[in-house]
Amino acid sequence: MSTPTEFSFTDYQPYDFANRRHIGPSPAEMQEMLKVVGYGSLDALIDATVPKGIRQDAPLIWGAPMTEREALDRLREIANKNRTLVSLIGQGYYGTITPPVIQRNILENPAWYTAYTPYQPEISQGRLEALINYQTMVCDLTGLDVANASLLDEATAAAEAMAMAERVAKSKAKTFFVDENCHPQTIALIKTRAAPLGWQVLVGNPDEHLKANEVFGALFQYPGTYGHVRDFTALIAKLHENGAIATVAADPLALALLKSPGEMGADIAIGSTQRFGVPVGYGGPHAAYMAVKDAYKRSMPGRLVGVSVDARGNRAYRLSLQTREQHIRREKATSNICTAQVLLAVMASMYAVFHGPEGIKAIAQQVHRKAVLMAKGLEKLGYTVEPETFFDTITVDVGHMQGLILRAAVAEGVNLRKIDSTRIGISLDERTRPAALEAVWRAFGGHFRLADFESNSGSDWRLPKPLLRKSAYLTHPIFHMNRAESEMTRYIRRLSDRDLALDRAMIPLGSCTMKLNATAEMLPITWPEFSDIHPFVPADQALGYKEMLDDLAQKLCAVTGYDAFSMQPNSGAQGEYAGLLTIRNYHIASGNAHRDVCLIPTSAHGTNPASAQMVGMKVVVVKVTETGDIDMADFRAKAQEHAANLSCCMITYPSTHGVFEETVREICEITHSHGGQVYLDGANMNAMVGLARPGDIGSDVSHLNLHKTFCIPHGGGGPGMGPIGVKAHLAPHLPGHPETDGREGAVSAAPYGSASILPISWSYCLMMGGEGLTQATKVAILNANYIAARLSGAYDVLYTAENGRVAHECIIDTRPLSDSAGVSVDDVAKRLIDCGFHAPTMSWPVAGTLMIEPTESETKAEIDRFCEAMLAIREEARAIEDGRMDRTNNPLKNAPHTVEDLVGDWDRPYSREQACYPPGAFRVDKYWSPVNRVDNVYGDRNLICTCPPVESYAEAAE
Ligand SMILES: *Cc1c(COP(=O)(O)O)cnc(C)c1O
Repeated sequence: MSTPTEFSFTDYQPYDFANRRHIGPSPAEMQEMLKVVGYGSLDALIDATVPKGIRQDAPLIWGAPMTEREALDRLREIANKNRTLVSLIGQGYYGTITPPVIQRNILENPAWYTAYTPYQPEISQGRLEALINYQTMVCDLTGLDVANASLLDEATAAAEAMAMAERVAKSKAKTFFVDENCHPQTIALIKTRAAPLGWQVLVGNPDEHLKANEVFGALFQYPGTYGHVRDFTALIAKLHENGAIATVAADPLALALLKSPGEMGADIAIGSTQRFGVPVGYGGPHAAYMAVKDAYKRSMPGRLVGVSVDARGNRAYRLSLQTREQHIRREKATSNICTAQVLLAVMASMYAVFHGPEGIKAIAQQVHRKAVLMAKGLEKLGYTVEPETFFDTITVDVGHMQGLILRAAVAEGVNLRKIDSTRIGISLDERTRPAALEAVWRAFGGHFRLADFESNSGSDWRLPKPLLRKSAYLTHPIFHMNRAESEMTRYIRRLSDRDLALDRAMIPLGSCTMKLNATAEMLPITWPEFSDIHPFVPADQALGYKEMLDDLAQKLCAVTGYDAFSMQPNSGAQGEYAGLLTIRNYHIASGNAHRDVCLIPTSAHGTNPASAQMVGMKVVVVKVTETGDIDMADFRAKAQEHAANLSCCMITYPSTHGVFEETVREICEITHSHGGQVYLDGANMNAMVGLARPGDIGSDVSHLNLHKTFCIPHGGGGPGMGPIGVKAHLAPHLPGHPETDGREGAVSAAPYGSASILPISWSYCLMMGGEGLTQATKVAILNANYIAARLSGAYDVLYTAENGRVAHECIIDTRPLSDSAGVSVDDVAKRLIDCGFHAPTMSWPVAGTLMIEPTESETKAEIDRFCEAMLAIREEARAIEDGRMDRTNNPLKNAPHTVEDLVGDWDRPYSREQACYPPGAFRVDKYWSPVNRVDNVYGDRNLICTCPPVESYAEAAE
C-alpha cells in the first residue's frame, strides 16, 4: 500500500485513449472470452479466422487516435470554414425551423436515432405510430389514398414514380414526359434511371410537347422550380384518356394553401418533407414521400406502415405488404429501397403534430406573404417579376446585371439562385427574416424598409384564385392535441418508450452492424455550419465540407484499397445501383455496351438483384454449396456460359453467411478473365477494416454502408449513406451531378447525398485512428466467435470455416426446434423480447435461422446476458420436447408477454414469473413490449395505412 505522501503515475488508460468508447469488452474480459473460444491471444484468433491469402500487407495508419475533445476541436475548425449565409436558392431545399422540442427529443435522442428498421413490430410501436402519422399527413396534403414512409429524396422519388408508372400504366409507350419546370436534379435522376431500361425521356413545356398518346406517364412540378403554380387537371385527364399515369411533384407546404394533386386527378404525388422542420444539411438527409391512388398501392415502392391487431385483439402497427419484398421477389422487386429516411419522416410528422393544420397553414401564408413583399420591392425597382401568380418562389430576368446582383447579395449575406445566364430565382421560407428581404432589395439597388410595403399586404395575395385549397387536411385528432410543450415532450417520450433501441439493449442484427453511435460523433450534425448549408451554395461557402469530404474519401480509400470514392448514394442499395451504373458506363465507353449479365449468388442480399434489375442487367443466379460458400463449379460454368455478355458479378465479403471464403480471389479472377467487373457488397466491411481490403482482393467497386460500419445511426430505418469506392479505371464513370461537374448519371438529388451525417463517420475515423479501427474489427470477430462458442451445443452454428471459426457474425439454426418442439424461428425471436432483446436477423440468408452480429461495441456482460437468454430459450424448447410443457400453450408460443398478462385471469401451464422474467430480463429496468404478438396476416387482409380512429390512441395527448 502506498502511503498518502507517495505519488506515482498510474499506467491506467482513460477510456478516451484506449478506444474504450467503441470497444465493449475490457482487456481482461477479452482474455476470458478468448479462453472460451480457445485461443491464447486476439491475434492468434484473427490469424486463424481471416485467410492469409486476403490479409492486407500494411497496417492501417493515419495518425494517432484523437480524444473526443481533439476530434471535436478539429471538427470545429472545419465547420468554421463553412459559411452560413441566408440561402433563398430554393430548388427543393428551404430554410425551416426545427422546433427545439423535436431537435432535442428526437434528432438528438438515442431512443429515436439508434433504433433499427421496424421489422419486429412488437418492439417498434412508437416509431410505427409516428410513421403512420407521417403517412396520414402525406395523404391529407396530397389528396391521395395511400402514402409510404419513406423514400430517399425528392429526385429518387420521382425516378421511382416513373418506374412505377411504367409498371402500372395501360399504355405500352416507352416514353416518359417531364415538365421542364421540374427541378434540374429531378430531371437528371429521371434520365439516369430511364437510360438503362431503354425508356425515352422527353423534357419540355407540357402545353406544346406533351403528346399523351405517346407516353406511359408524365411528371409535373407543383409549384414549378421557377415558381409557376398551375392547374394540371386537363393535362392529367388527357393522360388518363391514353392509359398513361400522371405524377405531380408537390411541395407539401404549398399544399396547405393549394388544391391538392389528388383533386387534380393525379395518380401519384411525390416530394420532399424537408421543409417540415428538417435542416437542409448541405443536401440531406430528409424524407421524401410518395402517395398513390388506392388502386396502385400494391405497386408502390418503399415501406408502408399498416394497422393490425395483436394476439389480444388490441390495435398494433406493423410494416405491411412490401416489407422486405426485395428478399422475396429478388430481381422482380418493385424497387431496391431498403434503408430509407425514417428518422427524418418521424421529425416531419412531429412537425405536423406540433403545428397542426392551423400552424402549417399560417406558416405557408407567412412564406407566401414574404414572397409577395419581395416581388413588390423588385417591381418598385422596375423589374418584371415572374410568374404572375406564385407561392414562395419568384424569378427575375436581370440580363447582364446577373453577376453583379448575385455578388452583391452574397456580400449582403444572402444566396440567390443563378438559373441561367440572366435569370435569378428567389425562394422565401419559414426562416426568412425582414432583414433578408431588405438585403436582397439592396443587392438589386433598392433601399426599402419592410414597413414601406407592410400596410397593404393583406389583400394582395398572388396565389391563383381557382387553385386555392378548399379541402381540409390534418383532421385526425393527433394533429389537434394540446400543443403545450409538456404534452409534446410526453407524446414523443411515450412513443420512444414503446421501442427497443440501442440505448436499452444490444441489437444483434446480422449484416446490419448495429454498433455504437458515439455521442461525440453525433454532436456536430446539429452545428449550423453543417446543418444550415444549402446543397447548391457557391463552392467557396462550403470549404469545410470539401475538406472533410476529401479527407473522409481518402481514409475510405485507405481502408478499402480503392482509388476514388463517390459520396452521392444515400443508402447501401443506392450505392449498389450507382456502382452497377458505373460498371455499365465503363463497358459502354469500352465499346462493350452489350455486356449486361450479372452473376449473383442465391445467398445475396435482396437489394443486389433488385439493383441489377434497375440498371437493365440480366441476373444469372449462382448456386451456393451446402457449406454456404459460392459453388465454384457453378460460378465457373455460368461465367463461361455468359462470357460474351458478362457485365459483372455481385458478391458479398465476408459472405452473407458470415464466413471468409477462401475462394474470393479466384472468383474475381474468373470474372475478370471473362471481361467482367467485380462488385463487392461492402455491407460486411466491419469484418474487414484494417485486416483486408476489397481493392486488394480483386474487386473493382463496392459500396460501404456508413450507417453500419462507420457509426451513422440507423434512425429506425434511415438515414444512411452508401458511398461507393472504385478502382482507377472506373473513376471517370462515377455518377456526375448537374450542380457540380454538370456530368450525367446523378443518383441522388444532392451531390454528396446526405452530407450532414458524414461528420459522424469522419469523427469515428479520427477518434479511432487506423489502429483503433483495426482493433474494432478484431474485437467484432472475437465477440461473434464467443457467441458461437457459447451457443454451440445448444444450437447448431451453421456455416463455419473449416476450423470452426466464423467472421463477425454467426448463424444459429433453429429449424431443428420446429420439428422437435413445434417452435418456430418467430417464437424464438418474440421470446427474446421478453428477455429484453431485439431479435437477430430472422430467416435471412437462410429461412428458419437467426443471424447474430454482436459488433465490437457490446460488452462481455451484455453478450453473456444475450447468451443466457438464448440458452434459456433452448431449455424452454427442451421442456416441450420432453413433454414437460404444452406444445401450443407455452412461453415461446405466447411471447411476447405484456403488462396485460400480469392482470386478470391466468390459465397457462407456466407462471407469470416465468412468462415475464425469463433469464436476461431485468427486474427493475424490464422492457415491456407494449403489445402481444402482432397478427401479420390480419393486417395485410385489412389494409389500413392511415391513423386509426382516436379511441384507440392509448392515452395519447387529448
Ligand atoms: C444492409 C445491406 C444492404 C442494403 O443497404 P441499405 O443501406 O439498407 O440500402 C445491402 N447488402 C447487404 C449485405 C446489407 O447487409
